[in-house]
Amino acid sequence: MNDYIVSARKYRPSTFQTVVGQSNLTSTLKNAIATKHLAHAYLFCGPRGVGKTSCARIFAKAINCLNITPDGEPCNECDSCRAFNEQHSFNIHELDAASNNSVEDIRSLTEQVRIPPQIGKYSVFIIDEVHMLSQAAFNAFLKTLEEPPVHAIFILATTEKHKVIPTILSRCQIYDFNRIGINDIVEHLFFVAKSENVIAEKQALSVIAEKADGGMRDALSIFDQIVSFCGTNITYKSVIESLNVLDYQYYFTLVENFYKGDVSQSLLIFDEILNKGFDMQHFIIGLAQHLRNVMVSSDASTTRLLEATEEVEQRYVEQSKTCGIAFIYKALMLINECDLAFRTSRNKRLLIEITLIRLCQIQNPTVVEIEKKNDISPIKKDSQVNVEQKQTNVSVPQPSLQQSIKTEVKATNNIQNKGFRPTISISTSTTEIPEKKEKNQETSEKIKVEQKNCDYSEDSFVELWKSFATDVREKNASLSRTMLKYLPQKQNNSYVVLVVNQLQQKEIVDDKVEIIAFLRDKLSNDFVNFSVEVSQKEDNDEKFYTSEEKLNKMLNENPTFSKLYSQMDLDLD
Ligand SMILES: [Zn+2]
Repeated sequence: MNDYIVSARKYRPSTFQTVVGQSNLTSTLKNAIATKHLAHAYLFCGPRGVGKTSCARIFAKAINCLNITPDGEPCNECDSCRAFNEQHSFNIHELDAASNNSVEDIRSLTEQVRIPPQIGKYSVFIIDEVHMLSQAAFNAFLKTLEEPPVHAIFILATTEKHKVIPTILSRCQIYDFNRIGINDIVEHLFFVAKSENVIAEKQALSVIAEKADGGMRDALSIFDQIVSFCGTNITYKSVIESLNVLDYQYYFTLVENFYKGDVSQSLLIFDEILNKGFDMQHFIIGLAQHLRNVMVSSDASTTRLLEATEEVEQRYVEQSKTCGIAFIYKALMLINECDLAFRTSRNKRLLIEITLIRLCQIQNPTVVEIEKKNDISPIKKDSQVNVEQKQTNVSVPQPSLQQSIKTEVKATNNIQNKGFRPTISISTSTTEIPEKKEKNQETSEKIKVEQKNCDYSEDSFVELWKSFATDVREKNASLSRTMLKYLPQKQNNSYVVLVVNQLQQKEIVDDKVEIIAFLRDKLSNDFVNFSVEVSQKEDNDEKFYTSEEKLNKMLNENPTFSKLYSQMDLDLD
């Protein structure tokens, strides 16, 4: 027969000293025993697997011990202690209220309460999951609890204190058990591993501890499971594989990429994670948890909110120093937005990918962020308005901004031509990753450059205007002609180009971003700007005519044409 004993039972603590992670509480209990200040009823509250029942048993053993140590620990050697350890003591009675919650169960228990113990001083009654007792059972129990015999001590345990009725609460001394800290669990797992001749990596045990969420019993059963899966050598890799936990290295790398603005790497890492079979929402929650850990690591006073081993804690601290708190706040907010939108999103993957892009753009706000900030619909056709609004509202150095504007204006035009809806402009950027990456790098390089603000004369402005016009002749002869014909003039502190009709105005405005970029570069001044206005002055020769006006003019000025027009019954198309 197999004599295998699960670790949670095999390594159950037998003294208060060996209870893990509850030192405050166990020293209070030891004090009470040493000073003989015993209550008749105790209520042990706290999450599952943190040592409530173990403490209750040690307590029962200690108060019946014939040779109690001066600090209130059981000796584990006397007849009573041995009977307890071999589990045939008559001084302890356990009832699991989860499965025995009827009035009859309580009645048979209270009958036992009346019988004094044969050996030892106290009979201890442990009722586990006491909140599960039925209302009638509670009432039946209350009477015994009010007038217990001197030899009886009750220890009630519950994971849900709020479900225990007040009349019971008020008759008990209450002890609140904490979740056990990661480091305490890891330390204990190390001890168990050593005793079992298992070699384990600290990181591996740390993952088990995290998965156990503060419960030692769970940690030990996960440990057993891992040992049966990987044998006597437990590595970090084997643990995350068998527990289906996402390697936290992914999160560290992702945040590095967000900070660098590397959209393509971030999207590829996300894809890799999905290919490994991880759930999208778990990924979002994990990423949020990671960022939260980085956030609390940024301040020495909040690092205690972190639940991680020292090595990992050090990495969080380093990442928080690299990224800075402003970046982390912003990233957390973006992740939170994504988490909130996730449930209702119809394209969940795209939602996460857009979030990743936005995270990459925290450092270099480009298209998506600027658009969001200004709330400018890409459908607006007047690029002049866009350019000017952006320049006033966004505090990004001019050169990088300009690039974004250019990209956006172009992208917008494409979208309009194809008849897409404006919201798709975001997804367009996901398909242009390589180009985007280049842009981001370029932009970040330019951000480091200080803004140029050299003086320049009106003459040099006009000369450069002409030179642009000449250069553009081959590509756009009409623009070249218009620009050469209407030169910019200085008015107050700005430059104005006065044209005579809206077609000319549009022609120049359409290429305004490129003209400005050229002028700023040549004049070494990032604040160069100009506006294009239609002259109010009536000038017949220069006036822009509609087809109808042209026809009327021709009919008036040319009698032969007029005759032909009426004879042939011509009309405008
Ligand atoms: Zn003893």
